[in-house]
Amino acid sequence: MQEFDAASLALPGIRELQPYQAGKPIEEVERELGISNIIKLASNENPLGVSSLVKEALINKVNGLARYPDANGFYLKQALAEKFAVKANQITLGNGSNDVLELLARTYVTNHHEVIFSQHAFVVYPLVTKAIGAKPVAVPAKDYGHDLDAMLAAVTDKTRMIFVANPNNPTGTFLPTEALEEFIAQVPKHVLVVLDEAYYEYVPSEVRAPSLAWINEYPNLVVTRTFSKAYGLAGLRAGYAVSNAAVADLMNRIRQPFNMNELALTAAMAALQDEAFLQHSIQVNAEGMAQITAFCDSHGLSYIPSHGNFITIRFGGNAADVYQKLLLKGVIVRPVAGYELPEHLRVSIGLPEEMAAFYRAYDEIVAEAQSS
Ligand SMILES: *Cc1c(COP(=O)(O)O)cnc(C)c1O
Repeated sequence: MQEFDAASLALPGIRELQPYQAGKPIEEVERELGISNIIKLASNENPLGVSSLVKEALINKVNGLARYPDANGFYLKQALAEKFAVKANQITLGNGSNDVLELLARTYVTNHHEVIFSQHAFVVYPLVTKAIGAKPVAVPAKDYGHDLDAMLAAVTDKTRMIFVANPNNPTGTFLPTEALEEFIAQVPKHVLVVLDEAYYEYVPSEVRAPSLAWINEYPNLVVTRTFSKAYGLAGLRAGYAVSNAAVADLMNRIRQPFNMNELALTAAMAALQDEAFLQHSIQVNAEGMAQITAFCDSHGLSYIPSHGNFITIRFGGNAADVYQKLLLKGVIVRPVAGYELPEHLRVSIGLPEEMAAFYRAYDEIVAEAQSS
């Protein structure tokens, strides 16, 4: 009898993948280290939690959960279309925006194609590319951000998709509007440009790109956004893509019919109504960002200026050690060695008291190192 060999039967691209490394969950640290009162600044979540309007809508929906959700997400698409002045048939809903990123790749990319993204860019881009067996082309970053000229120069006849994260995670780098539009205009039409705007809401409105309006001019542009960050719904999984209607039509053919569940649809609808919560989230983030950059400056720590709800700080050769010591003091941050940033740690912006716990823990670590 032949042995069953799960790995050798799997697609080569999938065999070589490393599982996605999420931020360490609070419960896991409690379990492993036996400590409580843990502060998690590791996954760019909204520290304000869930808006009260969303909570109320979710509670009211509970009795309806025996039924399937609306497979077309009619009302959510309608609300998004109205808010952003696009057509409902341009929208593809996803189980988080990770879902639509994967749908895009599965709709357009085969194992004969190349997919371009930047060094230090969001890990899901190489992940979906490799899963298909396509060739990942990681273009070296410039000042930790996307080098758009080099990315353009990397385009070949085989290129089918370019991922651009703006702002990028984990670096927080941001591309100015003019440079971005010039880039999109020059990308040949056999290539889709996927502009990932997961942190769009945190970008001050006066510097945001009019990316959705660009879709009319550049039909190969797709913009993805999420309810996971500023809207505070990471646990529910709700994201979407806005594209040319023909692209959305194709993506909708391969998505799972109920890929956005009833609670996610309900919460997203309610979240769009709660402008006050959104503005408060943005304000708390801006204040926390000003505070942590001042902390870094006063402690001789360099950082990558960030337009997101997180900041990536350089701790040098002992970054892994600082991570472990913070963990033992009950503060979870995010190592980014997997992003070729072994000397940095990413810290999400939390509530003032959570940030204070981080500052205190770091000061203790420095003091302990000096006294030993
Ligand atoms: C957080 C994040 C997302 C959003 O992921 P969801 O699946 O919507 O939770 C997408 N892109 C980037 C760059 C991110 O950091």
